[in-house]
Amino acid sequence: MVCEICGRRPAYNLYPRGKVLCDEHFAGFVESEVKTTIDNYSMFTHHDRVMVAVSGGKDSVVLLKVLKNLGYKVIAFHIDLGVEEISERSKEVFFGVVEREKVPYKILDLRDFFNCGIKELSKIVKRPTCSICGTIRRYLMDRYSDSSVVATGHNLDDEVAFLFLNLLNWSLEYIVRQSPVLREEHGFSRKVKPLSFVYEYETKLYASINGLEHVVGECPFSKGATTLLIKKSLNEIEKSNPDFKLRFLRSFMKIKEKIGGSSDSRVSLQPCVKCGYPTTSGICLFCRFREKALSYSIS
Ligand code: AMP
Ligand code: ZN
Ligand code: ZN
Repeated sequence: MVCEICGRRPAYNLYPRGKVLCDEHFAGFVESEVKTTIDNYSMFTHHDRVMVAVSGGKDSVVLLKVLKNLGYKVIAFHIDLGVEEISERSKEVFFGVVEREKVPYKILDLRDFFNCGIKELSKIVKRPTCSICGTIRRYLMDRYSDSSVVATGHNLDDEVAFLFLNLLNWSLEYIVRQSPVLREEHGFSRKVKPLSFVYEYETKLYASINGLEHVVGECPFSKGATTLLIKKSLNEIEKSNPDFKLRFLRSFMKIKEKIGGSSDSRVSLQPCVKCGYPTTSGICLFCRFREKALSYSIS
């Protein structure tokens, strides 16, 4: 197979896109798709400094590289979750990528807040690791970000799976809020997902073409069976309907615009009495987790 742009071999058949591209032109294609998403959703401009949340997984490592190649000002942000070898490996990858790409960075350690890692915290507060991890990550990104824009590496497969899960549960509150961009409001920073229209297999290919080191495999606490099952089922649908995921998310966003689905439906928020973070109850979840963990480590 030869690249449709330069005629060189070997080239990849990107069947959902109807394109056949070589390494170089594939990388350029991914970068231009990301640029289009950034511009279409007015995520940020070349004047902004974007805080990129880098876990060490392929998606966030790719995001950092793509934004850097597109000439955006970035700062990499990593949260050390304190999970033995996995966190050590993630940090190693993180330091490797920021050094190679020469980007400034910021790193936070969960143990500085809770005196323990995420696994122990999950036991202390009696909640699933995955659910407290999301809450804590969002809090730290909002409070400790050095920028008003925070970018995460969620890809097309993640976004469509999340949308499906919320449709299955009729979680209307989440459905109306789902978007590649969440505007800053009520003291939350702007959250953007520039890889929203890039397939997971494309981020994998981009990482491999560019020789980007990353942590391989799913998070050990990850997601639970339902999300994995949904992703598997969506892959089956995509097999017989190439570009199904792309069309699904694009159509959802169009429909949302038509019916005026809003992204600022967080109502009745007040500042947490302890830390000032917006919350629906007097003390925010992060502060409640912290109180429990600190009193546990004293007793
Ligand atoms: P996940 O929920 O694990 O699929 O992660 C989604 C996105 O959240 C990643 O692509 C990163 O941008 C961000 N993220 C996850 N874990 C971390 C972490 N430990 N430090 C910084 N960012 C993270
Ligand atoms: Zn080519
Ligand atoms: Zn608080």
